[in-house]
Amino acid sequence: MLASVRAMSGNGDVKVRAAVSRGVGMATSVEELVLAAPGAGEVRVAIDACAVCHSDLMFLDGGWATDFPVVLGHEAAGHVVELGEGVDNVAVGDRVVVSLIRACGECRACRRGHDVACTGDLALRNRSPLSDLNGDPVAHGLGTAAFAEQVVVHRSQVAAFPDSVPSEAAALLGCGVLTGVGAVTNTAQVGEGESVVVIGCGGVGLSVVQGARLAGADPIIAVDPLVSKQESALKFGATHATGPDDTADRLTGATGGRLADHVFVTTAAPGAFAGATGLLDRMGSLVLVGIPAEGVTFDIDPGVLAVANQRILGSKMGTARLAEDVPRLVDQYLSDQLDLDGMVTSTYSLDEIDTAFAEARSGEAIRTVVVFDHSGHTGNSTR
Ligand SMILES: [Zn+2]
Ligand SMILES: [Zn+2]
Repeated sequence: MLASVRAMSGNGDVKVRAAVSRGVGMATSVEELVLAAPGAGEVRVAIDACAVCHSDLMFLDGGWATDFPVVLGHEAAGHVVELGEGVDNVAVGDRVVVSLIRACGECRACRRGHDVACTGDLALRNRSPLSDLNGDPVAHGLGTAAFAEQVVVHRSQVAAFPDSVPSEAAALLGCGVLTGVGAVTNTAQVGEGESVVVIGCGGVGLSVVQGARLAGADPIIAVDPLVSKQESALKFGATHATGPDDTADRLTGATGGRLADHVFVTTAAPGAFAGATGLLDRMGSLVLVGIPAEGVTFDIDPGVLAVANQRILGSKMGTARLAEDVPRLVDQYLSDQLDLDGMVTSTYSLDEIDTAFAEARSGEAIRTVVVFDHSGHTGNSTR
């Protein structure tokens, strides 16, 4: 034990157990990998919880291309165990949300506050900190790879949160809730009394519903083919819930004949995009949050859009800035305005990850979370 710690401390690498995906449709294997020490501006974080996001499934199921083998997982919470040179936004021991949003702080996008559009040349964009025991590289899924006991990420990918927030709840602030609430507040800037339609009521869709409620939107029409998800949407603050075929009727019924100020498409299902612009009122905005498989397209009539002065807005990760959005969401959670606990449907260990993926894929869960037990582990231990 002592010998192995000493051997590893030579170059700062550690061994971690991680869920490795080796190809589309293949079962995941939990393996021991080598995680490189954090470089300048990077941090090493022990993961306490990581939720399954639809984006993980898109890679696993071949909707989006990725390098294999890969460790996925990008909606996480953990605690900082090591700082690379020049890191001053967090300290060892801090509990942190871990996200895929990585911002250099210096490029044009970052200087304008557009962290999600950062183009900075960061070391982690060019190399993975993960390799197998033979020294062969393992891809750093979504720049995070948090279905693992520990991660190395850029300092901008973490934001501290207080002890009063459970890890499972905090993890959701790394992607799903950040994306959904951010789409409402940052991307669309929904105002009080504006009408909102939310197409798709998974974890991101329910977060849009919560964000719309926090913004004072009314009505909030939630749309999903599954009755169970319609019921969830009503619990999280939708004023109406319906199946896809009745959306226009429910909307005009609730507004006295008007169409929507904002339509959010939060699902990746190709059929959800067709007809979405037809729900927009004059001056309305269509907000594209869900990212469908590569190659999916939909038709718009530019003349209608121009005459009605409508907008189409892409919303990557809710146009979020981690350092500002996470503290605000934590405050809303701690003051009972934002429900995170109710979004955690179930928890699994790392060894049960394929069950967690299957549950998330089934569409019945809101958020399935992989939790890690570090008892008996130390920061540098391999076992
Ligand atoms: Zn995600
Ligand atoms: Zn940048």
